[in-house]
Amino acid sequence: MKYNTIGTDSLPIKLAKPKSVKTLKKSLWRVFSEFIRRRDSDDNGYCECISCGKRVKNGTWKVHAGHYYSRGNTWAALYFDEINVNGQCSHCNTYLEGNKQGYRKGLIKKYGEQVLDYLDMKKNNRCKWYGFMYEALIKEYKEKILKLNRKDTYGQRI
Ligand SMILES: [Zn+2]
Repeated sequence: MKYNTIGTDSLPIKLAKPKSVKTLKKSLWRVFSEFIRRRDSDDNGYCECISCGKRVKNGTWKVHAGHYYSRGNTWAALYFDEINVNGQCSHCNTYLEGNKQGYRKGLIKKYGEQVLDYLDMKKNNRCKWYGFMYEALIKEYKEKILKLNRKDTYGQRI
């Protein structure tokens, strides 16, 4: 059996196998997207879609956390950006490819015109994600979720 060891040769200490960056990214998305869905829902659990304005009930899989600049490695700096990701109905997110036109209007309504400059500037940032960054953000967003004090959406453990 192979051990990752620290310390002297005579006293190997077994360390927990480090989680892969891919696993950590998935875990962060689970927590981060939950935060976005709860943040953008009202006290009754309804979320207004950023793109079309439709009110959808959270916890029915109809509310997604949708990217303006979409997921993938191209815009890594915006993948976990709270302004670039907002509550969106599943229809806009899944079938209308994010309903970009509506999303743009929704962003301006929510944050003002300058939001587009901010996102344009940030999308070109070179960004490499390391495991420790994911771990720190997972912890941070779990705390932020608790602070929101809103109902969970899928009844899942955070
Ligand atoms: Zn929508």
